[in-house]
Amino acid sequence: MAEVGSIADKVKQQADIVRVVGEYVQLRKAGQSFRGLCPFHTEKTPSFNVHPTRQIYHCFGCGKGGDVFSFVMEMEKCEFPEALRIVAEKCGISIPRPKERSSEGRKESQQRTALVEMHCEAQSFFVKQIEGTLEGKAARAYLEDRGLDKDAVSRFGIGYAPSGGDALLRHLKSKYPEKLLTESGLISRDQGGKLFDRFRRRITFPIANESGKIVAFGCRALGDDQPKYLNSPESPGIRRQDFASLVEGYMDAITVARAGISNVVASCGTSIAEQQIKLLSRFTKRVVVNYDPDAAGLSATERSLSLLLEQDFEVRVLTLPPIGDKKADPDLYIREKGADEYQKRLREAPSYVDYLIARARQMDLSTGEAKSRAVNFLLPYVQKIPNRILRSEWATRIAQQLRLEEPVLRAALSKAAAERRSELKLQPELVARAAKPVERRLIRMLAEAEGFRQELAQRLQNARLYHGLETEKIFAALVIASLSGRPVQATEVAAVLEERDRRMLYEILFEEASEPTWEEALSCIQTLQQRQAEQELAEVQRSIEANPAGPDLRELLTRKQELMRRLAATR
Ligand SMILES: [Zn+2]
Repeated sequence: MAEVGSIADKVKQQADIVRVVGEYVQLRKAGQSFRGLCPFHTEKTPSFNVHPTRQIYHCFGCGKGGDVFSFVMEMEKCEFPEALRIVAEKCGISIPRPKERSSEGRKESQQRTALVEMHCEAQSFFVKQIEGTLEGKAARAYLEDRGLDKDAVSRFGIGYAPSGGDALLRHLKSKYPEKLLTESGLISRDQGGKLFDRFRRRITFPIANESGKIVAFGCRALGDDQPKYLNSPESPGIRRQDFASLVEGYMDAITVARAGISNVVASCGTSIAEQQIKLLSRFTKRVVVNYDPDAAGLSATERSLSLLLEQDFEVRVLTLPPIGDKKADPDLYIREKGADEYQKRLREAPSYVDYLIARARQMDLSTGEAKSRAVNFLLPYVQKIPNRILRSEWATRIAQQLRLEEPVLRAALSKAAAERRSELKLQPELVARAAKPVERRLIRMLAEAEGFRQELAQRLQNARLYHGLETEKIFAALVIASLSGRPVQATEVAAVLEERDRRMLYEILFEEASEPTWEEALSCIQTLQQRQAEQELAEVQRSIEANPAGPDLRELLTRKQELMRRLAATR
């Protein structure tokens, strides 16, 4: 581990975050930092920032932020070691190769090869059936009715699984052991232990993985057989993409499947039906909804979201950008931009939370009342989530994105839940900004005023000046780092913070600001002292009004005088 640590440090020191990020995102210089369109959420005006000297990035839209490694991990959907390797490679630093695979790893890889081979044979078998058999002819006619001519059928590699029940089995059984046959998902076993073809009387379309190898089949019933769509289940170790893509039409489904998305379900026009959701949940609990970007698609998306959330799905929503002046459905998009580009879009599709919040943010948010309306649009979805932790995370994100006071929003949410209302009553204080300017300025000083950071930290700590502030935890982390005497690293401080505090810290670090001075620091301290005194005075006043006993009252009155004198002096 120590070795990995030192390599990571070395790579981080030599890597230029602006250059690495610049390979994924077009960046423009903007003041002290660089700015571009956020790769993690859909936006039209850039709110994604990269700081060249701090070596961090932060998006003011979705709140994502971190260092060069977390950026690559997020972009490439990989773990830290892989991100380290990628960054090192980009910067021309050589790092030691990982150890030889274990024998277990070798065995798994052998099995994987055999399964891929088996799928490849099944594919040619299905294609032969559709091209050369009587049953296959009926399937071809069916497809032709739906606008898929002979060319399209062969281009998509569409095949046919015959009705017999053991045709594929007979084809494969001499070459592969029974165990592997059933593990492939192509062959099933009945209660008596007899093997049979899983797909019967179905149109098949091959599903390829990222390297273009067929790893599963999506199948559609010919007539009204149920279920209409049947996909082969996950094959062990083969599929990395554990998610299903939910599209509107059958053509979309075929094109998406050909693009290598292992599970694709078409809900055929309207939002997904409950039965389809049950079927889907056997394969995955993660869904990317990708309906057409028109009004019908929009409301179908929202209906499907409700149903999927109720069933505990992890849902993301992909809205494809228009191609030229045409709104793009998956089929059109893949034909115009290619499968890779679509895959990329799918991988980066924002979670339903971000999607819905983005919709809410398009609403008018200028007044407290307008904000209430936006929150009320979101509330029914929040209430559908059975998982308490997820629900709570939601509240945090809504508060951040709509700039609401989180505790107030939470209180309003649980009150609505308790009263089984799907309407929220919001108080005006919900609308206040979380961190006051003086707090932001002091945080900034602690992070970068090399000259007097330590002294400032000491004063703040001695007078307990940041206690009880919205930003208390950020101050605490920065004060500890400053008192250590070492240079303060934004990412190190951020690492000990909770998500919402980390976001706020990054936001503050990216604000354009002038060089801080000690005089300014002193005046900020004074403001905090004053605020502290005002708060204590209010408390003392409340205690006095509660009619305490004689000696207590005298003590309170003395304290009140003292505080009023102190406040008068600073004004
Ligand atoms: Zn973003």
